[in-house]
Amino acid sequence: MTIAALHRRLRKIEAARARPNSFFLAWGHTKDDAFTVLAQAQADGLFRQGDAAVAIVWPDPEPMPSARWVSFGQDGGADLSDRELELIASTGRTEAAIRERERAIAAQEDITGLDDTDFYIRHLRRTSKDLTMDLRFLVSHEVPEPEIHHAVWNGRSYDHCQCDRCLSGETALLPAHTRTMGVRNAWLARYLPGEMLFT
Ligand SMILES: [Zn+2]
Repeated sequence: MTIAALHRRLRKIEAARARPNSFFLAWGHTKDDAFTVLAQAQADGLFRQGDAAVAIVWPDPEPMPSARWVSFGQDGGADLSDRELELIASTGRTEAAIRERERAIAAQEDITGLDDTDFYIRHLRRTSKDLTMDLRFLVSHEVPEPEIHHAVWNGRSYDHCQCDRCLSGETALLPAHTRTMGVRNAWLARYLPGEMLFT
């Protein structure tokens, strides 16, 4: 067997062994704490070299979740709370932006005026398997849809919601929608000019 064939064989064994949609998750009150928990879990044999593992900071006053294996996929992150998902996603974005910024600095690029969002978009452009979907998701995260109070059917016609927030325009259908489109268009002009995401 040639060396190349041996490598291929080893890669196949690795791929079969890895848990494709799972990773080991460790929390800590600081990044150092989280990495200590992760190192201890590896020393205890809870995961092995080559398994996916992440260490994330838990910033909340609520008790920290335990370190454990979690899986995505068909059972769709059912063993993660919404707050855990949010923290994992925001940590992933922050770290991706830091790496992109370091790449640009290493390449001696002028990065004046570029922020974390610019660098995260670069990360998506380099790594995304579905760029349009990922960019749309980013926009919906950065410029969320407004909370809207819909008109209420009174048996003959629709009455507009008359709560204080709707009367001030904050949650009324058209003012809230118009304001959000303005914010969204400004965001798109700043970060994704010329990108046809919503045509
Ligand atoms: Zn209302």
